[in-house]
Amino acid sequence: MTDLLTGPDTVAQERRLVTEVPGPRSRELAARRAAAVTSAVGSVLPVYVERAGGGVIVDVDGNSFIDMGSGIAVTSVGHAAPEVVAAIQAQAASFLHTCFMVGPYEGYVAVAEELDRLTPGDHEKRSALFNSGAEAVENAVKVARVATGRSAVVVFDHAYHGRTNLTMALTAKNMPYKHGFGPFAGEIYRVPMSYPYRDEPGMTGEQAAARAFALIETQIGAENVAAVLIEPIQGEGGFVVPAPGFLPALADWCTRSGAVFIADEVQTGFCRTGSWFASDHEQVVPDLITTAKGIAAGMPLAALTGRAELLDAVHTGGLGGTYGGNPVACAAALANIRLMEAQDLNGAARAIEATMLPRLRALQERTGAIGDVRGRGAMLALEVVKPGTNEPDAALMYAVSKACHAEGVLVLTAGTYGNVLRFLPPLVIGQDLLAEALDVLDAAFDAHVGK
Ligand SMILES: *Cc1c(COP(=O)(O)O)cnc(C)c1O
Repeated sequence: MTDLLTGPDTVAQERRLVTEVPGPRSRELAARRAAAVTSAVGSVLPVYVERAGGGVIVDVDGNSFIDMGSGIAVTSVGHAAPEVVAAIQAQAASFLHTCFMVGPYEGYVAVAEELDRLTPGDHEKRSALFNSGAEAVENAVKVARVATGRSAVVVFDHAYHGRTNLTMALTAKNMPYKHGFGPFAGEIYRVPMSYPYRDEPGMTGEQAAARAFALIETQIGAENVAAVLIEPIQGEGGFVVPAPGFLPALADWCTRSGAVFIADEVQTGFCRTGSWFASDHEQVVPDLITTAKGIAAGMPLAALTGRAELLDAVHTGGLGGTYGGNPVACAAALANIRLMEAQDLNGAARAIEATMLPRLRALQERTGAIGDVRGRGAMLALEVVKPGTNEPDAALMYAVSKACHAEGVLVLTAGTYGNVLRFLPPLVIGQDLLAEALDVLDAAFDAHVGK
């Protein structure tokens, strides 16, 4: 046990390449993978992971990568945070599974209490736990439909909500998420997002909201809308931050129309943007909120939290699942939340923004190939374009990301047009490591712009 606990601490917080990338052992695993794993599942990095600690991932050839992705905004407290590992070990030694619907346990209740306490608004709340973000979103839609007796769900351009049948329908982008996988669930209606970089210059959040309402009212009918579902900052869509006023206008419209306002905070939640939830930045109080990625430091857990009268409108037994709120995942979530509070990871996310934004803006200025720098906290992105235009340059973005990987920095990509580089570092990443990752990014742009 002590070995496991001290293991993560021994991962040096450094970037270090000792072989070419990928090295021989990773290439061997890639060959085994090709013969065993479907090619339908892709991976960002060409190397195979052996260990990870804090902000560093070590591959099977001994190369150390600076992690600017956190397993897609999951390991915000750092890889293998010792307190989380200890909580997992202790819970695993007590019991692994009873199924909350069969034999309930305290951990599930305690996670629900924390969610009810931390999510926006001081109204009476209830929570239910699930395994994945998609599952939480599906259940949000189920709750909204039961509670309102209506069926239409309004979603936005560039939205990402998951890969199950209902959440594919809620997701905007065809390739790779939907292509060939239909028919999709019905009663889903898509309206324009507020996308300041690509909207008419000067369009306010209220104007963008009015554009959406006009479509909703003429094409769906306000009285048919069960829910308006939105990511307060879009994740896979390219870290699109709506213009100020957009989210409050949507929430208002829902209140006036008797529709449920659902914030999908699966990617933005748990300190990622410098507050517990991205809705907090504009004092928006969602009726329902979905969470997952950052909730349990890497254990699979997701949640739906919201107004008690909405969640309790569902008949008993209507929500659940075999593994939802697994006790080990709950123990990890509780340790994760304690760490986030004790270490002020909201402050840490804001400090990352303070370090990164000026560097990213300087890079924009210098290269001319970055149309927009955006995001909040430790959720920042660059939209890569052909210089002097806003025309997406996916090829340049891809070349830069590959160059970063080859130099030992893990960056992620995103965006409807495949031209967004996104950064989601662990919130505990050291300032030196962060600065080094940005140096590598600078060099990658210099090597590829205009080539
Ligand atoms: C990742 C994500 C989901 C889906 O979560 P999974 O755990 O992959 O099912 C849903 N919504 C948003 C905003 C996400 O970023």
